[in-house]
Amino acid sequence: MEANYCMTCGTPLETRDMDGTLRRACPACSFVHWGSYSAGVGALVMREGKLLLVRRAQEPGKGRWTNPGGFIEQLELIHETIAREVLEETGIEASVKKVVAFRDMPKSIHNIYIAFAMDYVSGEPVPDDHEVDAAGFYSLEEMETMNVAPFTRWLADVAWNGRGGGLVIDTDPVIPLDGYGLFRV
Ligand SMILES: [Zn+2]
Repeated sequence: MEANYCMTCGTPLETRDMDGTLRRACPACSFVHWGSYSAGVGALVMREGKLLLVRRAQEPGKGRWTNPGGFIEQLELIHETIAREVLEETGIEASVKKVVAFRDMPKSIHNIYIAFAMDYVSGEPVPDDHEVDAAGFYSLEEMETMNVAPFTRWLADVAWNGRGGGLVIDTDPVIPLDGYGLFRV
């Protein structure tokens, strides 16, 4: 996939050699098309030994059960994005405990996905009837007979059988780093 026009000023892009790599760049301003990337976040919310799942009401994956999640926003910290997504999709209030899994998918749009273990806080699962049309807490046994997305099955294994501490939010970094979301071992 090649960029044709500058995202900043609309000028047709030129191909430029930048440190040995050919990249699309704007001859009229400083814009360089470094690549196409996207990032998603997902939630593993457990309550009484069951995992919070939603049934997708939209493509891709319509009709499939997944864990709640979504794409990150430009100016929002990812741990706030995932708490908001869980609340919007399911009515469940949950707070981030740690980062427990990560998926890398280098394609035409290079996607990364970060999965958070989250603590259940309050609420009963109610679907938003827009992005998802069903929501609930399910056991591994119940998931056997459900149309669960393969990647969600992998994440469910992490939720039940993951070992190690994961990355926790660093709310008191040893060096002041304002404006960063920091996760560490
Ligand atoms: Zn430009």
